[in-house]
Amino acid sequence: MSHGLVIVGGSYAGVQIAASARDAGYAGRIRLVSAEKTAPYHRPPLSKAYLLGKTERESLSLRGAAFYEQERVELILETPIHGADRAGRTLTTAKGEVLHFDQLALATGARARALPATPDNVLTLRDIADADALREAARSATSVVVIGGGYIGLEAAASLTQLGKRVTVVEMQDRLLARAATPVLAGFVADAHRARGVALILNARGFEFDHDHGVLTGVRVREGEGPERAIAADIAIVGIGVVPNVELAMMLGLKVEDGIVVDARARCLDSTTGEALADFVAAGDVTRHPSRWAPNAAPTLRLESVQNATDQARVTGATLAGTTGAYDAVPWFWSDQFDLKLQMVGLPGVPDRTVPRGDMAANRFSLFHFRAGKLVGVDSVNRPADHMLARRLLASGTTLTPEQAQDATFDLKSAMVSA
Ligand SMILES: Cc1cc2nc3c(=O)[nH]c(=O)nc-3n(C[C@H](O)[C@H](O)[C@H](O)COP(=O)(O)OP(=O)(O)OC[C@H]3O[C@@H](n4cnc5c(N)ncnc54)[C@H](O)[C@@H]3O)c2cc1C
Repeated sequence: MSHGLVIVGGSYAGVQIAASARDAGYAGRIRLVSAEKTAPYHRPPLSKAYLLGKTERESLSLRGAAFYEQERVELILETPIHGADRAGRTLTTAKGEVLHFDQLALATGARARALPATPDNVLTLRDIADADALREAARSATSVVVIGGGYIGLEAAASLTQLGKRVTVVEMQDRLLARAATPVLAGFVADAHRARGVALILNARGFEFDHDHGVLTGVRVREGEGPERAIAADIAIVGIGVVPNVELAMMLGLKVEDGIVVDARARCLDSTTGEALADFVAAGDVTRHPSRWAPNAAPTLRLESVQNATDQARVTGATLAGTTGAYDAVPWFWSDQFDLKLQMVGLPGVPDRTVPRGDMAANRFSLFHFRAGKLVGVDSVNRPADHMLARRLLASGTTLTPEQAQDATFDLKSAMVSA
């Protein structure tokens, strides 16, 4: 009897694997298993429009019921998978049921990194249940501390400030977005937050929670070598990164580093021999994959973005259907904070030259990053046309020079190498 494909993880990667496998002609049974109660939904609004109350639950769905029916994808919700056996090709659910598979796709994503033993009202934000808990807690809150100056923390800080809360962002590094943005963009974002009422504490040291009978009342922290400060807080949001959900891959004897290691066709590798396994694939936040876009000539990278989850899953679906193709899409990402639409393309790492185009003072500009004279990334603020063009420039190859990039009269399209 044929068991077909089981996909573990019902989010961007999981849904796209199913869709792309069908597109590429996969005719067998497909089961999409998710630990969550809610059918696959858009995650980015959780820190933006959904937190602001501008979008409701119903409009977050990734695909309507018709998709699952037409594509014959059996959606199995509220079913965390706790066990996996490679030789027997089985998965075991938390309730002890056994699922057999012929092919397995791991799209298990990542979970929010948590702090140990925290008082009540110290929250993380990864899924819709977290967002609902935050929305509920925010109703009666007046002050919020966000721990971690990454994208999710900053988006939450912006949304909660717009809801009238007093927000302080506490970051251990000497700048915001240390892992994910160039220093120039990070400096701009810091100024923008301060100008819109967010207090920032950088170089944070000696962080501690204050509580009253287990309920958060505030945090204490020093800024560098400065004196300790006590900040009142009804809520703290911990935004200190994620932990990829690699446990099943480890049980299956697949190669795991800080994510599940896959090849360019999204096939998992045997942990001992390194052999690529055609029936075990993975996509999304959980993978570490080869990429020519990795900064500093690193051979592989792990990305946390909708673009990566979706584009890699397209290749994964095709691999399952027996089609060839390699994942090579240019990475891009976006973030909405206050009135600022940030769009980033490429992975500039630490560029050796950055030039602006547009008007920084008017919050409408792009930063073009170069390494060894070559364009490696573009950050745009309220310049969506630049972003779209930059994606094409990077994907096609470009001769753009820093002088051309900052010349407002230069037609960027003319620096495209091939269509
Ligand atoms: C608040 C927030 C805002 C964001 N904003 C942006 C943005 O603006 N732009 C952007 O590009 N990206 C953004 N991201 C990141 C983006 O949402 C992720 O990169 C994307 O969701 C990754 O998709 P994925 O399918 O790989 O994994 P995930 O979305 O992490 O989904 C994995 C799924 O697998 C399930 N699962 C895990 N283990 C098991 C198991 N053992 N059994 C069953 N199910 C399991 C999980 O419950 C989850 O439903 C944001 C993320 C968050 C949380």
